[in-house]
Amino acid sequence: MTEPLPEGCDPAARPIVHVHGLCKSFGDQRVLDGVDLDVLPSQVVVLIGPSGSGKSTLLRCCNGLERPESGTVEVCGRLLVQDGRMLDESGLNALRAEVGMVFQSFNLFAHLSVLDNITLGPRKLRGLTRRDAEERARALLAKVGLEHKAAAMPASLSGGQKQRVAIARALAMAPRVLLFDEPTSALDPELVGEVLQVMKLLASEGMTMLVVTHEMGFAREVGDVVAVMDGGKIIETGAPASIFTRPTQERTRAFLQAVL
Ligand code: ADP
Ligand code: MG
Repeated sequence: MTEPLPEGCDPAARPIVHVHGLCKSFGDQRVLDGVDLDVLPSQVVVLIGPSGSGKSTLLRCCNGLERPESGTVEVCGRLLVQDGRMLDESGLNALRAEVGMVFQSFNLFAHLSVLDNITLGPRKLRGLTRRDAEERARALLAKVGLEHKAAAMPASLSGGQKQRVAIARALAMAPRVLLFDEPTSALDPELVGEVLQVMKLLASEGMTMLVVTHEMGFAREVGDVVAVMDGGKIIETGAPASIFTRPTQERTRAFLQAVL
C-alpha cells in the first residue's frame, strides 16, 4: 500500500501527515468521527480539547498504533490506512522509524542507561555501529542539555530530565515528524519549562510536530496552527491568535475559559 511520491513532485508541497475522514470506535463508542487534519513540512500543529475528545487516539492512528474503521491516514508519503486496510507489518516498522512519538509517561527503558536508551533504536533498526550511535546520542544529549547524564539510569533523573531524554531518543531515529502526547502533563510545574524549551528549539529548527498539550502559552507562541477537538471531531482550526482571541465555536470558547 506504499504510495511513492510522483516523479518531480516537491515533497515540501505535500503534507507530512494527512488525515481524512478518519473514524474509530471502541465497542459502540465512536471516538473519532470523521477527522480531517493536515500537518505540513516544518509546521507545528497543536491539538487541544477536553479530556476524552479523542486526541490521543488520533495521534495513535498516525503511528499505526490503532486500527481505524474508515478514512485515510497518510504519513511521510506512505498510505498507512485506507478504508480499514492498514499497511503491513514491515511497512509499519518502516513508518514508525520516521515518526517519533513522545508520551506523557516518558516510557524510558528502566534497565538501560540514558545513553543506551538513545542508542538502542538506531543500532537495532537503523544498523548504526555502537560508536556512531553513541556519538550521535551524545550530540543529542547536549542539545537537550543533558550531556552530563549519559551514564545515568532513568530512575535517578527528574521528570523533566526523563522527558528530555525521551525526546533525544525520538530524535536519534532522525524522524521526519514528531508526535507529542501531553509531554508535560506528568511533570511538576517547575519542570514544565525545560521540556517546552526543547520543543521550542526543535520547532525553530524546522521539525514537523503534532503536539497534544494543555500548555496554552506554548500553543500560542510556538503553534502555527491550533486544532480544537471535541467529541471525536475537529471543531475548528486556525492560527493561534484567532483561536484564542475570537474562536468561532461556542465549545472552543467554553474549553478555553476552563483551561486559561
Ligand atoms: P483524549 O486523549 O482526548 O483524552 P482519548 O483518545 O484518550 O481522548 O480517548 C477518547 C475516548 O476513547 C475516551 O472516552 C476513552 O475512554 C476511549 N478510549 C480510548 N482508548 C480506548 C481503548 N483502548 N478501549 C476503550 N476505550 C478507549
Ligand atoms: Mg490523551
